[in-house]
Amino acid sequence: MDKVFAKANEIFDEIVEIRRDIHMHPERGHQEFRTAGIIREKMKEYGVDEILTPTETSTIAVIKGRKGPGKTVGIRADIDALPVTEDTGLEFASVNEGVMHACGHDLHASMMIGNAKILCDMRDDFAGTVKVIFQHSEEIQPGGSREILATGMLDDCDAFFGMHVQPTEGDVGKIMIKSGPVCTSGDMVHIDVHGKGGHGSQPHKANDAILAACQLNVLFNQIQARNVDPMEVAVLSINTINGGLAENIMAGECHLSGSPRAYNPEVRQTIHDKMIEICKGVEIFSGCKIDCDYTFGYDAVINDNDLFQTVIDDWTKCLGEDFFAIMEKPQTFSEDYSFYSTKTGKPSVMFFLNGGHMRDLATLHNAKCSFNEECIPYGMTAMSHAALAFLAK
Ligand SMILES: [Zn+2]
Ligand SMILES: [Zn+2]
Repeated sequence: MDKVFAKANEIFDEIVEIRRDIHMHPERGHQEFRTAGIIREKMKEYGVDEILTPTETSTIAVIKGRKGPGKTVGIRADIDALPVTEDTGLEFASVNEGVMHACGHDLHASMMIGNAKILCDMRDDFAGTVKVIFQHSEEIQPGGSREILATGMLDDCDAFFGMHVQPTEGDVGKIMIKSGPVCTSGDMVHIDVHGKGGHGSQPHKANDAILAACQLNVLFNQIQARNVDPMEVAVLSINTINGGLAENIMAGECHLSGSPRAYNPEVRQTIHDKMIEICKGVEIFSGCKIDCDYTFGYDAVINDNDLFQTVIDDWTKCLGEDFFAIMEKPQTFSEDYSFYSTKTGKPSVMFFLNGGHMRDLATLHNAKCSFNEECIPYGMTAMSHAALAFLAK
């Protein structure tokens, strides 16, 4: 049996126990004090070479190989939970009312604790350094990764790996991976339309904010249809629209918000630029003043092709070709993991772990989301192997 996979199976019970403890006590972004306490305690116990604390609740464990100096690789797990009231019925369900690990970050944190143990035990087998990153606040924009990167503590990393678990019908433990785009960028737009209210019977004496808002929404859809290459992805959904006081009063104010997404940074910029232009155009002919507040959120996650090849060659050789599968399509959600690459210019790869389900099958962020813990050794094996493969190359 592969050495890493054997070690991952040896520590399975310990990691499950840690996972259930973290699952039972979920904490939201910037409040992961208990979780960080468990992580730091375990890193001390395993005897990592150094424990860095870039922020109050994030941790970087440094593990140095004994085969000599070499490259440095960062492997990242996010550790925060969501404002969801758990409805899984699990015996280790959340005891923190209104907070739940509904995105599997309890699994990410515990598997990464396991990776630290595996890599500490294998120091004689590699040259170079692994930085094991336990990142806070992935679920809350602008994302904890930006804060960690701003400390400069990861400036020496030559590459990064990240992983996300997914609830799946079956195929528990299978790793899903692809080259190129894997997650979209995730931006936020808030638009205030300031018109002039009036009597519903006298539209010519008012500036209707609702009609202007409707025009904005329709014209935004033209961006994808007429300004973006049909082979590219641009998702531009306006998801809230609020305005008006009563059926006989012409609305003076209306507010819209939405979340533009794209894989290609140029498409993302086009969406931004055209939205601003459309707002200016509607402003002119509606007579309303339109304030468009567009915030660039998470970047798209783009997997580096060379790093992807290194990893799948290693997995194929050491774990067999059934260990993983190539994803046909990227994900449509966003991840602040993107910044490890876009803010450093270093290559990165993110892959996905089929997590099955323990109770009902439900999506990420759903109150019924659960996972089959049998996926744990596979997730740890994939990540430790990816780090070792990069350092050995
Ligand atoms: Zn999430
Ligand atoms: Zn997540």
